[in-house]
Amino acid sequence: MDFSLSNEQRSWQMLARKFADEEIRPISLERDAIPTARETWTWDIIKKGSKLGFRTMAVPKKYGGQETDFVTQALVMTELAKADSAISKAFSQNWKWSHLISAACTDEQKERFLKPFVADDTFVLGKGITEPGAGSDNRMPPTDDPKPGLRLKAERHGDEWILNGEKAFIANAPIGKLFFVDARTDPTVPLKQGITMFLVPSDTPGFRIGKVFNKSGWRFYQNGEMIFENARVPHANVVGEVNGAVRKTGGAGGDTTGGDLFGDLELSANALGICDDACDSALRYGKTARQGGQALFAQQQVQLKINRMYMMTEALRSFVLRVAWEHDRKIHSCNAGLAMNYSCDVVQEVTELYMDIRSADGGHMDPHTDKLVRDSFIWSHLAGDSVSRMKVTRRIIN
Ligand SMILES: Cc1cc2nc3c(=O)[nH]c(=O)nc-3n(C[C@H](O)[C@H](O)[C@H](O)COP(=O)(O)OP(=O)(O)OC[C@H]3O[C@@H](n4cnc5c(N)ncnc54)[C@H](O)[C@@H]3O)c2cc1C
Repeated sequence: MDFSLSNEQRSWQMLARKFADEEIRPISLERDAIPTARETWTWDIIKKGSKLGFRTMAVPKKYGGQETDFVTQALVMTELAKADSAISKAFSQNWKWSHLISAACTDEQKERFLKPFVADDTFVLGKGITEPGAGSDNRMPPTDDPKPGLRLKAERHGDEWILNGEKAFIANAPIGKLFFVDARTDPTVPLKQGITMFLVPSDTPGFRIGKVFNKSGWRFYQNGEMIFENARVPHANVVGEVNGAVRKTGGAGGDTTGGDLFGDLELSANALGICDDACDSALRYGKTARQGGQALFAQQQVQLKINRMYMMTEALRSFVLRVAWEHDRKIHSCNAGLAMNYSCDVVQEVTELYMDIRSADGGHMDPHTDKLVRDSFIWSHLAGDSVSRMKVTRRIIN
């Protein structure tokens, strides 16, 4: 197999590395330490990154984007995440939903939404599925019972739909300009047959943002409530068919039926960035900290721990790039989901080993070590959660 990168892939990787070193890393710990969730966000870093293409790199060239391939997207996410995982995610969240616009929207919707998205450095995207009483059961609803799952209701009145209900934990909600929203359009049938996806601009009448959630990890990344009180959405903003939302969960382009394939790649590539940071930091610490009159690294147990950190990180890198390479060839299998599950295990073990190597210093909340550990624990609750993600095993037997 040829593992080399093209010149274009390499130059995106270098651009991301420079931006991460010069712009992201210097603000990372300072933003993370801000106690009020709503205030950790700054547009300055988003605008700077947007001007380099990091907000729109998944948008087709036809609509003004960079149309990078999946290998490039994985490389860039990893580089940005090595400096700050939450800021990396704030950029790539836009790729995820611009992939969905490309995969699921009509040409008229693409013209209407992709062009303004590309033109405005402060235009970010989100998607609302989860609700206060409906999280995992949106991903694995029973096939014979209409009650479980999201309750946000949409009723048609002529050329408009009236939406009522609430969403919770929605990424980019407090600062986004456009959202995909899943709503019940037929509450009498099991969830998968009765939900419709809508495009909801932030200035939609009857729609507002509620509280911003205070998270232990990924503090820069904004998660908020979405509140719909007789919100009026034009029929022209229905994505795909009425009652057909689950068939539009894509993200990798092409036929994406049955899973958010880009989302899985995205999270595993981001986890890899944290692992790279933890490995470099552990090695640096092992060489400089002293114990028993010699460098900490001279202790065999410490070498074994650092060895395990590197070994797992490099295995994850191979898996991530293989999945990205497969997406570029439209080879869609259970691998993306498996890589996501593996990345959860790896990022949590690698950061824990790093904290362990720092010993009292790690336990006493050195801000950087503490941030890596807190960020890594977010993986337990992403892309569903660690239980619902095991659904990938169903794809192994198909
Ligand atoms: C950083 C972050 C960003 C997010 N961004 C978004 C977003 O942009 N849009 C969005 O819609 N949502 C988003 N979410 C929400 C996320 O998708 C949900 O948190 C997730 O689906 C789990 O739902 P829940 O929190 O309601 O937990 P619950 O579903 O209530 O689960 C609670 C616990 O019970 C377990 N459990 C649940 N059902 C079962 C079962 N059948 N069998 C065994 N165990 C079970 C779960 O594993 C979990 O441990 C985000 C969450 C986080 C943390």
